[in-house]
Amino acid sequence: MNYDRTYAEIDLGAIRRNAEAIKAYAGKRLIAVVKADAYGHSVVPVTEALRSVADMFAVATIEEGVSLRQAGIHEPILVLFSAFPEQAAHIVEYRLTPTIGDWEFANKLNKIAASTVAVHININTGMNRSGVRWTEAAQFLTRLKTLDRLEVSGFFTHLATADEVDKRYVFVQLERFSSVLEKISNGSELIHAANSAAVLAVPGAHFDAVRSGLSLYGVYPASEKPIELEPALTWKTRIGWVGSISEAEGVSYGLTYKASRQTRIAMLQVGYGDGYPRALSGVGEVLIDGTRRPIIGRICMDVSVIELQPKDNVSIGDEVVLIGKQGDAAITVDELAHHTGTISYEILTQIGTRVKRIFNY
Ligand SMILES: *Cc1c(COP(=O)(O)O)cnc(C)c1O
Repeated sequence: MNYDRTYAEIDLGAIRRNAEAIKAYAGKRLIAVVKADAYGHSVVPVTEALRSVADMFAVATIEEGVSLRQAGIHEPILVLFSAFPEQAAHIVEYRLTPTIGDWEFANKLNKIAASTVAVHININTGMNRSGVRWTEAAQFLTRLKTLDRLEVSGFFTHLATADEVDKRYVFVQLERFSSVLEKISNGSELIHAANSAAVLAVPGAHFDAVRSGLSLYGVYPASEKPIELEPALTWKTRIGWVGSISEAEGVSYGLTYKASRQTRIAMLQVGYGDGYPRALSGVGEVLIDGTRRPIIGRICMDVSVIELQPKDNVSIGDEVVLIGKQGDAAITVDELAHHTGTISYEILTQIGTRVKRIFNY
């Protein structure tokens, strides 16, 4: 029995099966992207569950890499963004694989390293947010060779439009990447470019390894669905109060909802302080007994209100599904993203720390 007001059930078996399916589909090595607390799924249990499948893990920051090492993860960990020079010591101390995207950090890392450090080079082929510009990559590599402690063990690029229907710019980026690799690769480095969208939609982007994030968690980045993925997260809350209002009475801050007749309502123990988007006010739906009920009025920091049907037999403490399946009904992460004008990535990573994660193996 669990008495938490709101909790997310994480199906670690589903995450592992998704990873296996993605890896088998690409037929390449898998770099499992577990940044931002594994997209809200809790990074340590997720990483442990993926140990047998992933060839490498990727995080966004040095701090994320350090906390994985402190949790006993000894597999290779790629830090996707160039660190600040003052963080170079952590790379060495925690045996992280840094991304090199500028000279200053490379130089600093070389200075403090006592032995060889394996690094990946980020080649900017048109995403234009990080990395060495493709036109300057050959020159950069020549200069990097003067830093004798750094060993280039990987080259990668990141695609800006792999999730769009029009893939023309993807091929422009891949052509830039391939032509520069011809000049700078000796054939031994790990070459990677594909995020989830490119893994599922652009086989020409697979190279030696694929860098999957979102799809590991069973959410598709775009319309292409060549393999079956299982959503890994179910988000639940519980009923905290049941009431009844008369015609023309309002609900919650601003009384934005007005009852058109005698209406039974219930309060849910979840609000925007838990990452349940306030933009779902008046438009979101939840599941009770396998059927949908609308969110009415404004979502508050800690609680929300739904409209009940006259026949609903609900009590305080009953389970309500915000994301996931209940009976034959389901509410997807994409549905919440659609209602709130954002992307699934943001919905997942905003699920707050007050939401207890419970793991199924
Ligand atoms: C976040 C990230 C990924 C993973 O992207 P998904 O769309 O979640 O698969 C891959 N590569 C880089 C550089 C990233 O920042």
